[in-house]
Amino acid sequence: MNVLAVGAHPDDIEILAGGTLALYAAAGHRVTMAVVTNGNVGSPTLSRDEIAAVRRAEQEASAALIGAELVWMDFDDEWLFDDRPTRTAFIDVIRACQPDVVFAHGPTDYHPDHRISGQIVVDARIPAAVRLVETALPAADKIPHLFLMDNVGGIDFAPELHVDVTSVMETKERMLRCHESQDTWLRAIYDGMDYVAFMRRQAGARGAEAGVTWAESFREVKTYPPTGSAALLPGTVIPAASAGGAR
Ligand SMILES: [Zn+2]
Repeated sequence: MNVLAVGAHPDDIEILAGGTLALYAAAGHRVTMAVVTNGNVGSPTLSRDEIAAVRRAEQEASAALIGAELVWMDFDDEWLFDDRPTRTAFIDVIRACQPDVVFAHGPTDYHPDHRISGQIVVDARIPAAVRLVETALPAADKIPHLFLMDNVGGIDFAPELHVDVTSVMETKERMLRCHESQDTWLRAIYDGMDYVAFMRRQAGARGAEAGVTWAESFREVKTYPPTGSAALLPGTVIPAASAGGAR
């Protein structure tokens, strides 16, 4: 299978779905990480171009840990909007990757770049398969299944499905640690926040809900394809108790 994860900033995919992608990669699937913005506001000292270059190198190192392909979309951090050029770029990422499964941010996450990128993915995945939606690339041959990733911090998100990432938690953590510049930056703006500990708290809390040590959590977008997406998640998948078997 082709698996595509679209994260708003360098590091988001690692926090929310890094373990799930590691499981896909270990099972021999082709994994692509598309990072929408270049992180060019995330430094207390460097210029925008300088920090963007640092963050791209960090993201490349993280993707390389699981053999994932990186698509660096290079939009300005904090300034993402759903306009025609932007949506066209998203359509072309889907067309180039030809994914069977896509992961995107959900609509209630805290950051506008997260919410807007997620909405564009939701809105781009069907046009990506429409021939007369003309862009630089030919139409995708199918409409991919789509999962919404957990919100950062797990706030305002009701999981439907948990993926047990216990066996790859070390890899997920190593991927996140590649984003070394953000450790410094987040400690500066969020009052000493420990980035990796923050990720571990979320994965541990989701693990507790799922009855495993570490988990990542998702919701399924059911509009199309209508059923069967959960079977496409890797490893051990645990339906959320709160989902009440609704899927
Ligand atoms: Zn982010």
